Amino acid sequence: MKKIVVFLGAPGAGKGTAAAAVAAKTGAIHVSTGAMLRDALARGTPAGLEAKSYMESGALVPDETLCKMISELLAGTADGATVFLDGFPRNVAQAEALYALAPAADAQIASALMLDVSKEALLERLGGRRTCPKCGAGYHVKSLPPKKEGICDACGTALVTRADDRPETIAHRLEVYESATAPVVGFYEKAGKLRRIDASGSAAEVAALVEAAL
Ligand code: AMP
Repeated sequence: MKKIVVFLGAPGAGKGTAAAAVAAKTGAIHVSTGAMLRDALARGTPAGLEAKSYMESGALVPDETLCKMISELLAGTADGATVFLDGFPRNVAQAEALYALAPAADAQIASALMLDVSKEALLERLGGRRTCPKCGAGYHVKSLPPKKEGICDACGTALVTRADDRPETIAHRLEVYESATAPVVGFYEKAGKLRRIDASGSAAEVAALVEAAL
């Protein structure tokens, strides 16, 4: 049996940072659907090209593409693994699809962690976010700077601001979150799987709370 832990929270809440840190410590597998799509786009695969226009405007990529990606990924994961899903499900239809597709991959949903942060903190975090275009590592100019300014600690590549972290796209992503993704929190609450995490602290503090909630 494989165990799924879903990471929920608005863009900028720190899902990716917390999931990566706790996965590195516990041996869980960190799956970021946003990172998978950016990688598919960089490699020019059909799924990546299809996702391009949606991602650039901050809209959601069609559910079918995401559900196929997640089914394949879970099927290819070793028995006994814990999988951190960061960025999926993004709406209630995807949350229902995850319940439907998990058994075929011998996986079950253990919990959904909701990372709570104020709107002001989200805007501050998104504006300062920098990403490595090569290995996908995430940084923040103030709270999580790389050792050498503008350069990825892990692979030495020059960091970039993601196209969808520009101010006009940020506003749209937060709207999409409110209308499509926020209801997913209620979905897991009803299923008795929801744990709320205060994600207003430092990256290390949030990672410790996440680890304790597993
Ligand atoms: P993220 O890195 O999680 O902020 O995702 C970046 C972008 O990828 C999103 O704004 C969406 O366009 C797309 N994306 C990531 N995950 C999903 C998903 N589960 N469903 C639809 N689109 C997604």
